[in-house]
Amino acid sequence: MSIPTLSQIAHGLSTGHFSSEEITCDLLADIVAKDKQYNSFITITKTLALVQARAADQRRSQGRAAPLTGVPIAHKDIFCTRGIRTSCASRMLDNFVPPYESTVSQRLLDAGSVCLGKTNLDEFAMGSSNETSYYGVVNNPWDLDAVPGGSSGGSTVAVAAGLVPGATGTDTGGSIRQPASFCGVTGIKPTYGRVSRFGIIAYASSLDQAGPIARTAEDVALMLNVMAGFDQQDSTSVDRAVDDYCAQLEQPLKGLKIGLPKEYFGPGLDDGVAQCILSAVQDYERLGAQILDISLSKLPLSIAAYYVIASAEASSNLSRYDGVRYGYRCDQPTGLLDMYCRSRAEGFGTEVKRRIMVGTYALSEGYFDAYYRKAQCIRRLIKNEFEHALAQVDVIMGPVTPTPAFNQGSKTVNPVGMYLEDIYTLSANLAGIPAMSVPAGFVSGRPVGLQIMGNYFAEAQLLQIAHQYQKVTDWHLQIPPHSSQECA
Ligand code: GLN
Repeated sequence: MSIPTLSQIAHGLSTGHFSSEEITCDLLADIVAKDKQYNSFITITKTLALVQARAADQRRSQGRAAPLTGVPIAHKDIFCTRGIRTSCASRMLDNFVPPYESTVSQRLLDAGSVCLGKTNLDEFAMGSSNETSYYGVVNNPWDLDAVPGGSSGGSTVAVAAGLVPGATGTDTGGSIRQPASFCGVTGIKPTYGRVSRFGIIAYASSLDQAGPIARTAEDVALMLNVMAGFDQQDSTSVDRAVDDYCAQLEQPLKGLKIGLPKEYFGPGLDDGVAQCILSAVQDYERLGAQILDISLSKLPLSIAAYYVIASAEASSNLSRYDGVRYGYRCDQPTGLLDMYCRSRAEGFGTEVKRRIMVGTYALSEGYFDAYYRKAQCIRRLIKNEFEHALAQVDVIMGPVTPTPAFNQGSKTVNPVGMYLEDIYTLSANLAGIPAMSVPAGFVSGRPVGLQIMGNYFAEAQLLQIAHQYQKVTDWHLQIPPHSSQECA
């Protein structure tokens, strides 16, 4: 029993083994029959998917197919999709149908991919467990009592369970890597500015970055080839040529210098997770890499700095939801102020309100210097430290999270406990460097991801490093007990 990878599906389409319409129908039937147990989709776009699949088959028959033509995927419900409800998992946007398309989804559409639907996430991408969604918790196919991680939990679960071979995600502080680690799939957060943010509902604009999630590094490379690139509509998009992310995959790793920061292996790291990471590092030594001990001493400051900056930006970004132009509006407001207050009070969930309040506080007069400015200074120190480290080594490796997936409800009462989960992922966003999660083992039946961080625009190298590992291991090919294959 196996779940086909995105590359295998692309291959099957190109050799005529099956049509896009056939595979699309199969996967849609699976989603309808099996997603009840995961809750990974918010919206299933059946009619649209079939129209797109037929168009893809026609394009192929005319000899105009690209690598992703006819390949079914799903989008995190944070990417605006024209004419398709885009909720960001919030009551605030439950009725929002965007009149325009995000650049990422447009590029994937132009490449001929087929959109099966929009996946669940933490409300406005704020969370590490996918428990803050207005549409309910997402269940991890490795253990239905465990969280899938967040915020891109719907996308990672849909991929892990075999409902879709690839999906988009966004990562502001770990939201691609952490759920990828918890669900045993592969995901990359590219360099800030590599993938356009146009049409992605903003959480923290200086940290948000979109990336692909799939089962293998090769699949992720195929998707990133389409997603990456300059976009005039995003002023932070970088005008720089895009590498072919598949070109370097087969190159050997001899001479690669890997840095292991001692702070990533300190107190708080689960023993089983540490074992998985160290054994992955040994695999890399066998593949010809050289391991060096390094230090990233600012790691402990990343949580405080991140949660000040991200909340500050969120409080500003979310001020647009006021019940006036679009989104949720309360019933029968008695006046303008009542409409603002009740629309926001009723439209946002608890975690989102907490972030808005923290952010507004940190930005207010008298506190700006004490919190926001200080957090920005720490951010610069973190960036400097990465630059210094990456001048000595090619990449940095460590765990993605301190523990494997935790049980649902176990961290919801203590928000700070939940924030601590992000300790190993936040720094890459603060520095803007690319980072990925690659399946590297299991602890008590729950997956563990290896984090690989690299220099600015080194995505091709990260994917090569992940691919070479996946050629000698099969963690990424394991099938969850509650997958679409197992319950067939
Ligand atoms: N867990 C982090 C947060 O809640 C990161 C979320 C994300 O990357 N979108 O902010």
